[in-house]
Amino acid sequence: MSFGRTFKLASGAKIPAVGLGTWKSKPGEVQAAVRTALQTGYRHIDCAWIYGNEKEVGLGLKEGGIDRQDLWITSKLWNASHQPKDVRKAITETLSNLNVDYLDLYLMHWPIAFARTPDHANVPKDSNGKVLIDEHLTENHAETWQAMESLVKEGLVKNIGVSNFNIRRLRKLLSEATIKPVVNQVELHPYNPQDNLLRFAEQNGVHLTAYSPLGSTSSPLLKDHVLTSIAEKKSCTVAQILLSWSVQRGTSVIPKSVNAERIKSNFEQISLSQDEFDQINNISRGKQVRYVNPQENWGLDPFEDEETDLLGGPF
Ligand code: NDP
Repeated sequence: MSFGRTFKLASGAKIPAVGLGTWKSKPGEVQAAVRTALQTGYRHIDCAWIYGNEKEVGLGLKEGGIDRQDLWITSKLWNASHQPKDVRKAITETLSNLNVDYLDLYLMHWPIAFARTPDHANVPKDSNGKVLIDEHLTENHAETWQAMESLVKEGLVKNIGVSNFNIRRLRKLLSEATIKPVVNQVELHPYNPQDNLLRFAEQNGVHLTAYSPLGSTSSPLLKDHVLTSIAEKKSCTVAQILLSWSVQRGTSVIPKSVNAERIKSNFEQISLSQDEFDQINNISRGKQVRYVNPQENWGLDPFEDEETDLLGGPF
């Protein structure tokens, strides 16, 4: 059975449960990957300006020949463009790259705002190689958010959301926003299920999209003995189990692949019994692994929410 389903967002829009991820998809490969995905039945493509391949994604979208209104296209505002005056320039460039008139969803890629340098560097650094952060915009997202809200009013984006937001940041933004964020895209898989964040998001009308749902490049999850034994029993791939588990949890997923066979097989949904679902939910006990680690780069605590969980603190 293919993943044809959608999740309804607080705005009323419907996001397709499975989309194609495009991070690390080389410009020379991503065009064919997008075309194959659309031919397979995917209607959701996850992009970002910083991936440096939006033009080729746009060519793949054109080749796929699907009517624009039947597609769901997400892209993301990069950390170096959080200054309100840079937001419109950023979306204009993304729309031009993708060759579309509007996005279905525009996300603030990270809650981290980089300092604006004269050369507008993508990742500005000081002479010691330390990334330069704009502390004010990093702790106060409302200014950038208002500029994103203007894009909705102008019709350039249908929905706005965030990415890599923990509960504290999400709660603050929800209290300040005129147009509430409808999606938070975060790293989610059985080694980093972020149960508390999922619960908080559900209670506050924010849908979670799972990035790195397979555990990203060279993932140890693909060899996990619980997952391999369930996959063996059901004669399917571990990737299919991981993606089906995520969707069964209520999160959309955006697996990346540039391999035609994997793009196709990742779109096949497997029905998990309650027992199998529970076994996968329990994998994370005693384990917590992030494959996209912001601490290494920008000093952002990757497990801040889960610490809240351990302390039993309020949401
Ligand atoms: P994924 O968990 O999607 O894993 C991708 C890796 O798995 C690739 O190496 C891919 O290789 C391989 N793969 C894909 N399908 C299979 C399969 N069936 N069996 C075995 N291996 C497979 O990782 P990503 O980190 O790419 O996350 C997915 C997407 O999420 C990104 O592409 C991006 O769009 C988004 N993302 C967003 C972030 C954010 O900050 N908002 C951060 C990170 C990701 P191959 O291509 O050769 O098949």
